[in-house]
Amino acid sequence: MAKASNPKSYLWCTTCRRSYSHADAPDGFCPVCGSATREMSRIAAIARGLMANELTTSPLQTKHRQLIKLIWMRNGMGEQYYRVLAPDMPYSRFESRMTRLMEEGAAEGWVRFIFPLAPTDDESAYRMEFVDEDRFIQELEALVVPEEKAS
Ligand SMILES: [Zn+2]
Repeated sequence: MAKASNPKSYLWCTTCRRSYSHADAPDGFCPVCGSATREMSRIAAIARGLMANELTTSPLQTKHRQLIKLIWMRNGMGEQYYRVLAPDMPYSRFESRMTRLMEEGAAEGWVRFIFPLAPTDDESAYRMEFVDEDRFIQELEALVVPEEKAS
């Protein structure tokens, strides 16, 4: 379902409430959260962007997500999980989904992200700990199961 890039249209992600160019989301899935996007005209994307302005994710939340992503992916873990699990999806989508899974895990308490009180170049100060490894493995299995309805 990859369409030829059309400069007049954009891809809208309802979850993130923002638009992407076809180049940013070549497979039609949001590069940030992994949800399916829908195509809309440039004007519609701009208008929706303006309407969603008050609801957009804050820069702090975005940075927090990036930090989580950097921590779980450290030492090539992203590629390693991808290689071992061999999910039926492009790497970029796997990476977004894994990051979202880790965020959920942190919210639900089965994984813990540890940040130092002050920024430091000691990388070991930024780390993650699994509180419930079985739960993580369960979630991982669910993540790589082929989608029932690809839209
Ligand atoms: Zn999204």
